[in-house]
Amino acid sequence: MIHSTRHLARALLIGGLLGGTALAQEFHDRRTVQFPTQVTADNPQRTPAKAREQGFKGTLVLTGGRVFDAVKSQAYAGSVVIQQNKIVSILPAGSTSWPAEATIVDISGKTVMPGLIDMHVHSTYPTPETPADMTVNEGHATLRALRSLQMLLENGITSVRDMSGPLAAPYVISEWLEKDMAPGPRVFAAGHIITGTGGHAADRPLTPIHSAAYTREADGADDWRKAVRETFKMGASHIKIASHFAPDEVKAAVEEAHRLGLKVTCDCETIYTTMAVEAGVDSIEHPLPRTDATIRMMAQKGIASIPTMQVYQGGFDTRGDYAGTASRRFSMASQTNYDVLKKMIAAGVTIGVGTDNIGGAFASTPNIYIADLKFLQKAGYTPAKALIAATRVNAQIMDMGDKLGTLEAGKLADVIVVAGNPDQNLDDLAKVDMVIRNGNIVVQDGRIFMPRHVPNPLPKPSPPEALK
Ligand SMILES: [Zn+2]
Repeated sequence: MIHSTRHLARALLIGGLLGGTALAQEFHDRRTVQFPTQVTADNPQRTPAKAREQGFKGTLVLTGGRVFDAVKSQAYAGSVVIQQNKIVSILPAGSTSWPAEATIVDISGKTVMPGLIDMHVHSTYPTPETPADMTVNEGHATLRALRSLQMLLENGITSVRDMSGPLAAPYVISEWLEKDMAPGPRVFAAGHIITGTGGHAADRPLTPIHSAAYTREADGADDWRKAVRETFKMGASHIKIASHFAPDEVKAAVEEAHRLGLKVTCDCETIYTTMAVEAGVDSIEHPLPRTDATIRMMAQKGIASIPTMQVYQGGFDTRGDYAGTASRRFSMASQTNYDVLKKMIAAGVTIGVGTDNIGGAFASTPNIYIADLKFLQKAGYTPAKALIAATRVNAQIMDMGDKLGTLEAGKLADVIVVAGNPDQNLDDLAKVDMVIRNGNIVVQDGRIFMPRHVPNPLPKPSPPEALK
């Protein structure tokens, strides 16, 4: 488990709160401040939620195929049993201990595995079809996110971290998808990026996606703290910051976010990565230059990396170099970029998987995702280890390791069936055959499904037949 420094043990005495019994209770973090009967939403904030019927009605069994559970690195023969929105058991081959009325899906010759997670997308960003006057329109942004996210869902990506978008659009799409009100992955939204005035995502040349709708510029430690609180208020699942900043600013932001129970990830480079790592952020996005000492410190402090290799490689392939902007004053090349990844792996840095998928590039799904996994394979990962990074490790980095990322009894039923052996050949990830998200079959036979609504009865009495 990756548990960051924010989980500072604080012993709090609460006396007389529960039926007059004096209790000494130790709160390790905000999430532990709950009672056994309390239901919490399946998001990193774990906000109290009403219990509701959700997922598959009855029992769903996927049987006859290979199980890659992302706990073990070897696939095995077995069956996955789902009830409502939870995995209830993984049965060994030969066992049929499920209810007689269960719905059985034969997955012979296929592999069942946890849904994939993409740690870095911008689902609300404009696509090439977006009219110029709609780039900061929340309604347009929410609908184009829905379209882009469906392309991920079709390809077995059942959760994403959304890493910035305009105004409330990222939070709106997150809330709708959490409630199964549209087909799409779970969206853990950052909302806007917080950066220093003129910093990354607010630097020249200014574009609509670098406007105030997408980016919160902050100056001074107090303002950085305030920006974190504003982002929390809007509904963020995590905080995304970007260089540039001063050491006291990044420290204030990280401290405030952790106190609120949110993780912080940083899109930064060179000296800023060192400052962010010293301040105790939870992860660093992108490959981007950093010193060997900073890489060692990332490993020591358990700070993860989401390298997003392919999007940078795409830039090198088309332009030959990383196009610097006003705030990014360095150059780099394909090999030095890849060397950063190799050094991080050698140092033992936790590596997650994210694509930085954006705009028109969503139409290239799943190729971008597979390409990112192949960078890990090139750097020494087996396909199975790359899949574990894409599922279990990603869930842990998001603080969702207890609910997502593996096939285990009690986990949320985000499950995919692949027509092949992706744990042996990553290209087989292009053959996602079935997607179950929150216990609902949402992709089957090449189509997206939404559960049909159950009609509410009309108020009684007075059917027309009673009238004369
Ligand atoms: Zn990004």
